[in-house]
Amino acid sequence: MKVFHTINELRNELKNERKSGKSIGFVPTMGYLHEGHVSLLKEARENNEIVVLSIFVNPTQFGPNEDFDQYPRDFERDEKIALNAGVDCLFYPTVEEMYPNELKSTMKVTKRVDVLCGEKRPGHFDGVALVLTKLFNIVQPDQAYFGLKDAQQVAVIEGLVEDYNIPVKINPVPTVREEDGLAKSSRNIYLTEKERKEAPVLYKSLQKAAEDIQNGNHNAEQLKQNIINTIENETSGTVDYVSIYSYPDLEPINRTNGKIIIALAVKFSNSRLIDNMIISI
Ligand code: AMP
Repeated sequence: MKVFHTINELRNELKNERKSGKSIGFVPTMGYLHEGHVSLLKEARENNEIVVLSIFVNPTQFGPNEDFDQYPRDFERDEKIALNAGVDCLFYPTVEEMYPNELKSTMKVTKRVDVLCGEKRPGHFDGVALVLTKLFNIVQPDQAYFGLKDAQQVAVIEGLVEDYNIPVKINPVPTVREEDGLAKSSRNIYLTEKERKEAPVLYKSLQKAAEDIQNGNHNAEQLKQNIINTIENETSGTVDYVSIYSYPDLEPINRTNGKIIIALAVKFSNSRLIDNMIISI
């Protein structure tokens, strides 16, 4: 595995690989790797000759009062995990490398962002679209891999790639969970012991909603309220949102029908957790 800190060095390496006809699979992350990231890397490894992993905590996708400074970072640990996962090129740029000058243009995502995390984190997906456009231009991958844990992100990226004709195939990968159902996340380490015990309730409440739908309850309002009640009764977290929308367009629905997403965000003392379930009815 080779580690690259500069855009030029990575580009030169990948130019040669591309010349010899090798396919490139790309997994962009913010590091502090866990099995969720590893499952993306595994998919990339199985389907490409060269696997590129980027680790970059992207400042432009964090709001002024968000956890950019506190976001966990441990490059040595990540390097070992990347090596074990069969990564060929690890791209680990500094903020100065990625944003050397004041930007002369901006990206504005206009669809699929006025709900869920987009509504709660204004500008977040503009920052995601910006950094991914840069990374796609730098790496020029054939395929890229994204986790469905961030399902809104997948919807936004699919829109971005379609709108701007970016020649990359986007592969969504199912959410990897702890044994008790909690979605793996770099932010889980900030849960207190008590919160960690409570946190699996998030996924359980989604599973119960899916079960209710299967049993014929298609009333979105009622399904949402049941999830809110469960989380409020069984955890010390504060519900940020519980929502049901069509997927991937994220349009409001009253009755569950077609492909839908049930998504939630819950704030614990030092960590905001998200989870979702996508169901085809
Ligand atoms: P992050 O480092 O949080 O920006 O995540 C990098 C990528 O890993 C994104 O595509 C995430 O959706 C994905 N990811 C994060 N957690 C999980 C998980 N538990 N299961 C699957 N993919 C995940």
